[in-house]
Amino acid sequence: MDLNLSTNAKITWCPGCPNSQILVAFRQAVTELVAGGKLKPENLVALSGIGCHGKITDYLNVNSFTSLHGRVIPTMTGVKSANPSLTVVGFSGDADTYDEGIEHFIHAARRNSDINLFIHDNQIFALTTGQATPTTPKGFKGKSTPFGSIEEPFNPLLIMLSSGATFVAQTFAGDIAGTKRIMLSAMVHKGFSFVSIIQPCITFFDTRDHYKERVYWLDDSFPKNDLSAAIAKVMEGGGKTPLGIFYQVEKPTFEEELNK
Ligand code: SF4
Repeated sequence: MDLNLSTNAKITWCPGCPNSQILVAFRQAVTELVAGGKLKPENLVALSGIGCHGKITDYLNVNSFTSLHGRVIPTMTGVKSANPSLTVVGFSGDADTYDEGIEHFIHAARRNSDINLFIHDNQIFALTTGQATPTTPKGFKGKSTPFGSIEEPFNPLLIMLSSGATFVAQTFAGDIAGTKRIMLSAMVHKGFSFVSIIQPCITFFDTRDHYKERVYWLDDSFPKNDLSAAIAKVMEGGGKTPLGIFYQVEKPTFEEELNK
């Protein structure tokens, strides 16, 4: 079967934007899942929020919906609750979910809704040209913080681990094969899957070199079902940034409980 996941929409991300790498990784992940018989294309629904990431649904030839700012997660939950047989993937940004949508973020993890949240974390509001978000590093100078941000960033991985997410992972957009691998694992996981995708904004906050020097993958011996180990890993200091699946366990999903 020929699977065409592309649309005729012109890509309007800045040339070289790592959002394109996320798009490629996702198309590859879907292609593999379909080829392996684990997903029917008609059962896939992709949603996005507001921000540069949000254009991704324009470029995917799948069932899709662009939601309001910060409301990707409740929309995903609604779709999944209405038809639990669907595979629901939501793309969002650090501003979209960690600012406007923070309450949905915590409660979806707590409920263990069987949905997949992929966050394009560029550590700024990129579409509006560079204001601070909850993951912006202290000292960042941008449109809303011309003298440098005075706020400490939060750690979304730690929030997810403490909120009950059953799949918590991180990847780097520049590593397309690694991102595809994590997306695949997230989409076959039963329960709330959270994937933080480090996605430098090459126009307003170019962190590509910073992360290229610091990212490393967890090795296979990392205990994925150990919450304490996961928390220690996502809080690890030393200037390095771990990638991989930090935590994965099975629990009843929101939809299973709802339909008991
Ligand atoms: Fe990508 Fe940044 Fe351009 Fe948005 S502003 S398309 S995140 S490079």
